[in-house]
Amino acid sequence: MKILILSPHMDDAFLSLGGFVSRLSMLHDFEILNIFSYDPWVLDDFKTTNKMENINIRKKEEMLNASIAGIKTNFLDLPAGWKERGYSKWQTNVDRKIDKKILIEVFNYLEKLVAFFDLIFSPLGIGGHVDHKLIRGIACKLTLSKIFYYEDLPYAVEKDFFRYVDNFRKKQCLLNHVFFLNNKEIKKKEVFVRNYKSQLTKEEMELVMRYTRGEIDHKISKTSSEIIWTYKDNIPKIKNLQDYKKDE
Ligand SMILES: [Zn+2]
Repeated sequence: MKILILSPHMDDAFLSLGGFVSRLSMLHDFEILNIFSYDPWVLDDFKTTNKMENINIRKKEEMLNASIAGIKTNFLDLPAGWKERGYSKWQTNVDRKIDKKILIEVFNYLEKLVAFFDLIFSPLGIGGHVDHKLIRGIACKLTLSKIFYYEDLPYAVEKDFFRYVDNFRKKQCLLNHVFFLNNKEIKKKEVFVRNYKSQLTKEEMELVMRYTRGEIDHKISKTSSEIIWTYKDNIPKIKNLQDYKKDE
């Protein structure tokens, strides 16, 4: 199977689906597409005065994880919404005036890509990040038999942030599938998460891992897992993927 993960920024795919990737990367062809990779945002300790330098710090983190996982990661280098495209905050609705060109450009690009992949993973939009919502909005207009949504981390650790996906989940009639992870996969995900040093504080990394291990109250599953949301008819496809390799 050919699997494409749409990553709004240069960390979303591994933070949200690192366990899923680590289990399946030996069996399937994975590709990550980092869409808004012109994004110089880094934690203060990493900040330089040069935007490109900041962007390259992030690219290196992403490429390191891709090489550990043995998968491809590509960069579309579109500007991030917050600051780079003119949004004054990150948690907001997509503004069709600001993003008229980007919406058409990304839709046309992805529409052509769909034919080359069997499954496509989009952010669900937990947390309400404008770039995540933009990608989700396009994903749900592509071939739905191929579309799956992942829970956006680190945002999913905040119970309150799920309100950003209530309407979407209802409107799209999404069901969830709990993708269980074994200890080895959890350890591998932890390596991925800890490599995003320019993006997450130690506390945030720990929260991402606690959520993944099912230790955060509001998570659907209390076991180590990543939760995937999709349309009813797509659930068997994700179940079949998992059957390739049993827990050790
Ligand atoms: Zn993001």
